[in-house]
Amino acid sequence: MTYALPDLPYALDALEPHVSAKQLSLHHGKHHQTYVTNLNNLVPNTEFAGKSLEDIILASAKNPEKVAFFNNAAQAWNHDFFWKCMKPSGGGEPMGELKTQMNNAFGSHEKFVAEFKQAAVSQFGSGWGWLVVEKGSLRIMKTSNADLPMAHGATALLTCDVWEHAYYLDYQNRRSDFVEAFLNHLVNWDFVSDCLKNA
Ligand code: MN
Repeated sequence: MTYALPDLPYALDALEPHVSAKQLSLHHGKHHQTYVTNLNNLVPNTEFAGKSLEDIILASAKNPEKVAFFNNAAQAWNHDFFWKCMKPSGGGEPMGELKTQMNNAFGSHEKFVAEFKQAAVSQFGSGWGWLVVEKGSLRIMKTSNADLPMAHGATALLTCDVWEHAYYLDYQNRRSDFVEAFLNHLVNWDFVSDCLKNA
């Protein structure tokens, strides 16, 4: 199997002014591409040949000798998922069943925002902030580097990339401003709802 860089679900400038075309182009075309290229270089003639990203992630997650497979497969998966979590003129509050479940879990949208932001901003170094469903309950999670919910028995519903490469051109060191823009203007709640239905 050859792994391919998935197209973005919107134009490079579609998320401006919250994420610039230059930032998105670098993030997708260079950083995401590198994980895909690394995987194509690593996988041939190994036990992972022909396997999906999910299969590689689950088989390598607890094996320190397979860390390069895990890191590149997980980062390829994380970025594909992250692009789908955003859309132009997104953000704000969810609707319908998702809103009900989120209010049950967090108390209010404001409390969800505060908890998600706290997790994403306090992740030390590179990583990801997540909304996940685990054993039927919604909760916030943060992970380091390439780590992701499926390696811990949880299903991802929403993520924000908080590696510096995700925001540094637009926001420099102001990670909290990036996370705030993500929540207020970019989250694709329709995608999150679909993930919850399929969880
Ligand atoms: Mn990234």
